[in-house]
Amino acid sequence: PEDAEVEALQHADVAELLPRPVAESDKYRRGVVGVVAGSARYPGAAVLAVAGALRGGAGAVRYVGPARDAVLARFPETLVHAGPPDKAGRVQSWVIGPGIGDESGALEDVLASDVPVLVDADGLRLLTPQRIRRRTAETLLTPHAGEAAALLGRGRGEIEAARLASVRELAERYAATVLLKGSTTLVAAAGGPVRVNPTGTGWLATAGSGDVLSGLTGSLLAAGLTAHDAGSVGAYLHGLAARRAAGPDGAPITSLEVADHLGAAWRDVT
Ligand code: AMP
Ligand code: MG
Repeated sequence: PEDAEVEALQHADVAELLPRPVAESDKYRRGVVGVVAGSARYPGAAVLAVAGALRGGAGAVRYVGPARDAVLARFPETLVHAGPPDKAGRVQSWVIGPGIGDESGALEDVLASDVPVLVDADGLRLLTPQRIRRRTAETLLTPHAGEAAALLGRGRGEIEAARLASVRELAERYAATVLLKGSTTLVAAAGGPVRVNPTGTGWLATAGSGDVLSGLTGSLLAAGLTAHDAGSVGAYLHGLAARRAAGPDGAPITSLEVADHLGAAWRDVT
């Protein structure tokens, strides 16, 4: 039966998967995340994706894009780069897409790398299944329903009416792991089970929260989790952080506050 391949994500599984520093850890071993995000029009997307990556436990974050000043003003620890991604130095994962607009050269650069790549938001508009099939490392796509609809060439309503079938179809068609965002986030690996995240909250329905999830999940990829595990743990922590930020009775939150509560979410899991 179809339900046998749908698993609710459990607290204990997430606790087991959380990457922790060992005595010999250095920042490179903990994972360096490359973030390609933001544009002159949307500099904030870069700040939010970098926030998610830093709060997600990355040893370091390399930022590539035009929003360097905005990123450094909020996170002076970020390593910023002016050239293309393939000249930025070694990373253990790439996150590309939030707020980038139609910039496509960077997408080809990161897809040509041999490390896991998370593609979100604007990056999804330029993807083809053929390009992903040529990759040597994992690829994780993180669409919301509208972006999933565009990837499948359907209407958004059709995705919303068949979310489980849609996430499976996307994973097969794009030969990728797919995290379908929404009130209940689903994570599917091609041919594998679909995980259902139980921690979401309507307070996450706020501008920029997906950008934080991208950076956070990228740092889990850089730490060595598989795309399926990184997507699952990322969605779980993101929901918990939003609940922490919103407080026990609930109150409006901003996306940067979600990032700032990732530490509290982390402690809740362990
Ligand atoms: P994005 O659309 O890229 O900004 O991402 C929005 C984020 O908020 C995703 O992580 C969604 O899963 C989450 N989200 C949006 N609406 C809801 C909701 N009603 N309940 C729970 N999570 C939500
Ligand atoms: Mg988004």
